[in-house]
Amino acid sequence: MSQPVTVREVECKSVLNKSSLFDYSLNCYTGCAHACVYCYARYMQRFHPHPEPWGQFVDVKINAPQVLKNQLRRARPGDVFVSSACDGWQPLEAKYKLTRECCRLLVDHGFIVNALTKSSLILRDLDVLAGSGSKVAVTITTLDENLRLLWEPCASPVAERLRVLAEAKRAGLKTGSMIGPLLPYLSDSPESIHAILKQLADLGVDDITVDALNPRPKVWESVAALVSRRWPSLREPYRKILFDPTAREAYLADLRARVQSAAIAAGIPDRVWACF
Ligand code: SF4
Repeated sequence: MSQPVTVREVECKSVLNKSSLFDYSLNCYTGCAHACVYCYARYMQRFHPHPEPWGQFVDVKINAPQVLKNQLRRARPGDVFVSSACDGWQPLEAKYKLTRECCRLLVDHGFIVNALTKSSLILRDLDVLAGSGSKVAVTITTLDENLRLLWEPCASPVAERLRVLAEAKRAGLKTGSMIGPLLPYLSDSPESIHAILKQLADLGVDDITVDALNPRPKVWESVAALVSRRWPSLREPYRKILFDPTAREAYLADLRARVQSAAIAAGIPDRVWACF
């Protein structure tokens, strides 16, 4: 599925930035046409206001590889998160190849790429990442393709993301998965969590992080709009889970226990980390 996206080619001053999660993060695009309903990167609009809603604009940092080349003259090699505020392999990357070129530069300079994507386009770049000690991770929030279409309308189908993990493994790369956010009452049942973990266990995924839905800025408006439209009776439970401290604490404790049990049942408790 696709929707109209306003594309602007822009020049950036830096593309490799210090990060709290890894040593660095790298984003070749501002905005993300995957248009996930729960996307936390919406906060970017506070610093880079756009007239279009989130998911319907992308600024392409057209000089990213040249800027990175300059930055790499001084930067100490380390782990780079690709990407933290967009998907580096969103549809426009097929044309621009900026993330590919930046990953090539990073690897050539001894940096480790930690890729996280919802796109099978990354299969194109396994040749660049192979042999570098880099890791390829995909996000999975549900195995239900109907839910995926509603929540992540323009990202790759779940089956394609699982194929990414299988191919990355075959290419000798480390693999990971972000299961998050688990969608309250939709993909967070013990059965759903176990089914996802079982698929990842069968693929031999090296490490798996699980996250809950978080009340990040601007997320509620978007989530509430979808939930009210498709599952009106869940609007109030969602609001409570996000904003009522007592209800949230109880929900998270229960979810943590469900994740732990599912990880044990899937035989991979040592590879699963609940980050909430
Ligand atoms: S792929 Fe990631 S950055 Fe892009 S819209 Fe979805 S959650 Fe946001």
